[in-house]
Amino acid sequence: MAKQTSLHCSFCGRNREEVKILIAGQDGHICENCVDHAQEIISQELSVNSMNNKNQQNASTGSKLMVKKPIEIKTFLDEYVIGQDDAKKVLAVAVYNHYKRLNQKVDNDVEIEKSNIIMVGETGTGKTLLAKSIARMLNVPFTIVDATVFTEAGYVGEDVESMLTRLLQSCNYDVAAAEKGIVYIDEIDKIARKSDNPSITRDVSGEGVQQGLLKLLEGSEVLVPPQGGRKHPEQKLIKLNTQNILFICGGAFDGVNRIIAKRINTNAIGFNVNKEMQEYQHNNLLQFVNSVDLKHFGLIPELLGRLPVVTYLNPLDAVTLRNILTEPKNSLVKQFTKLFEIEGIALTFEPAVLDFMVEKALEYKLGARGLRSICEGILTDAMYEMPTQKPTHFNVTLEYAENKFNTTKLSLLKVA
Ligand code: ADP
Repeated sequence: MAKQTSLHCSFCGRNREEVKILIAGQDGHICENCVDHAQEIISQELSVNSMNNKNQQNASTGSKLMVKKPIEIKTFLDEYVIGQDDAKKVLAVAVYNHYKRLNQKVDNDVEIEKSNIIMVGETGTGKTLLAKSIARMLNVPFTIVDATVFTEAGYVGEDVESMLTRLLQSCNYDVAAAEKGIVYIDEIDKIARKSDNPSITRDVSGEGVQQGLLKLLEGSEVLVPPQGGRKHPEQKLIKLNTQNILFICGGAFDGVNRIIAKRINTNAIGFNVNKEMQEYQHNNLLQFVNSVDLKHFGLIPELLGRLPVVTYLNPLDAVTLRNILTEPKNSLVKQFTKLFEIEGIALTFEPAVLDFMVEKALEYKLGARGLRSICEGILTDAMYEMPTQKPTHFNVTLEYAENKFNTTKLSLLKVA
């Protein structure tokens, strides 16, 4: 009898009466509370160990990324991005070299420098899409940040380090993975200093931010607040080495055409080419963009020095827009067809409808982004009614598309 009352959990010491379950072992017992507690400890330990192992493995083996050859990289990009062949080629080579450098054993003789990239092109021409597609191909952590949210340290706004916080968050704080990731900095042109001359007055949102970016871009150990921002001053900082992080910057650089034109005229390029060629070159000046133009635009030379690869994107013409509708792996037409297919409805478009959408995107100066709004505008009523009506087939005719488009708010936006 005495033995019965002495039954207790060998871990926490609670008596039989104080617990719901007591599991017997060879020389003792364990209660449900201690089982729970033990389970928690095990899962915590296992996840820490696996993270450490992964980090160690990555560090020791250099976690060789399987990088495709430049031609294969371009072929991959072709699946998602239409046109922009020059940019794709430049990016393919830069990315290939970057990761080749990463996979290389350290060689003290020749140190290959990082090939951070800057892409110049109108908004909506596929800059972000290119960067995103590259990260998808490499399967490395990727984040997109907007340069306009940053300010010089100490001012209201985010510190530049917060972009690394986002990169860390994108891979669940796997430091080794983040150190090989890609950061896409959008709207880099918006932090240009206001004039080509070094500023006399304080410029916290422009030049100051550019200065702040320098140390991240060239590669250094940076202390990153895991939650970002300055709201948690007590948070423990994570050390991240940016040496192998690939930075891709993008911007529209409105007005850079004039700078290029001026330079080309003074250099008398095109002096010997025929009139037609001259005209073509004049309309496609962006293809001649280089670091000097971007310096005149207001990026500081130190920053440009750390962004050695400069490339450009073409404005989207009707043919490209038409292809964007149907060709990419996740093109708009494929996406909407899928949406209808899930409802059991076979969606088809008259070819003239696709031409109509392109025409409207150009007419309203909406670019590729506008294609989605136009498509949504035309199909919203159908998507509203058809899940109830459940037809088996829905063919969008030109007449239907025109009618629906004219009733959308978009049609009121016409640019004069
Ligand atoms: P940017 O970064 O140059 O402003 P995005 O890459 O964000 O433009 O493009 C906006 C959207 O337009 C993309 O999500 C994509 O659907 C479409 N798009 C733009 N350019 C292309 C392109 N060349 N090929 C395929 N889709 C494109």
